[in-house]
Amino acid sequence: MLVSNVFSLIGDTPLLEIGIPVPNDSKIFAKLEFLNPGGSVKDRLGMSLIEAAIKRGDIDDKTTIIEPTAGNTGIGVALAAVKYQLTTILVVPEQFSIEKQMLMKALGAKIIHTPHELGMKGAIVKSKELAAEIKNAYVPNQFYNLDNPAAYEKTLGKEILKDLATQKIDAFVAGVGSGGTFVGTVKPLLKQYPKLKTVVVQPEGSILDNKPAHAHKTEGIGVEMVPPFFKDVRIDEIKTISDKDAFSYVALAAKKLGLFIGSSSGAALAASLKLAKTLPRKSNIVTIFPDSSERYLSKGIYKN
Ligand code: PMP
Repeated sequence: MLVSNVFSLIGDTPLLEIGIPVPNDSKIFAKLEFLNPGGSVKDRLGMSLIEAAIKRGDIDDKTTIIEPTAGNTGIGVALAAVKYQLTTILVVPEQFSIEKQMLMKALGAKIIHTPHELGMKGAIVKSKELAAEIKNAYVPNQFYNLDNPAAYEKTLGKEILKDLATQKIDAFVAGVGSGGTFVGTVKPLLKQYPKLKTVVVQPEGSILDNKPAHAHKTEGIGVEMVPPFFKDVRIDEIKTISDKDAFSYVALAAKKLGLFIGSSSGAALAASLKLAKTLPRKSNIVTIFPDSSERYLSKGIYKN
């Protein structure tokens, strides 16, 4: 395959049928989003946030992009900023993985840390402060920007329908950080399959089960507030997965499937297998593997 730039390789990732026994003779299919050039599902978002803003005239070639991010969105935004040669500042709470931060820097972005204890909220506040100080700044703000779910509605959701054109889809399972991946992807699926079971995955310590927030090791998912995008779709079930379960499926995926998946993918796999026990026989479950374990090696992802 001959390509003229790496940006054209974003999206159209493979959908893998998971080759381990699934309860009730069902099947689990996972979109291998770590195969995007920047290594995660958030390449789709980074490119889309920048291109939508350029189209609206919110960005010109002198604009500084400022974004609060746990890391993967930062890499996606920084990758898009390379394409359009834009200055980028990423505001990252300090607990997140060093590999992601190294990759953001390699792409030319500047990183500003906010204190761990202030969480993503602290990064959002700091981004707004910086934007007020810097002339011609643009904060995409993935947590509120409708370009976020729209990116996934246009690409990931439609791709899944195409990938499984010859098979029905009974359930969609995905982790939630901003909620953009879940909400955007599920919309076209619900249009084609109105009875689709929609299942959100969160780590223990995320607030969607109305329990108090606490720290967790599963990275990239978990929320401190209900994502504003949730009001746009029907959510049937919330599956809360412990760090222990998420990391045990990360280990299993490597040993049994030869897959290097991150902990949010491990949680998605754990949740999909749990869900399969409750669905009718021969159900088809679709999920997302957002990134790779390679970005968490320094955090001991295989030592848990
Ligand atoms: N998994 C990983 C590894 C992520 O980085 C993210 C984004 N923070 C997600 C899942 C969740 O994606 P979204 O923000 O679209 O809910």
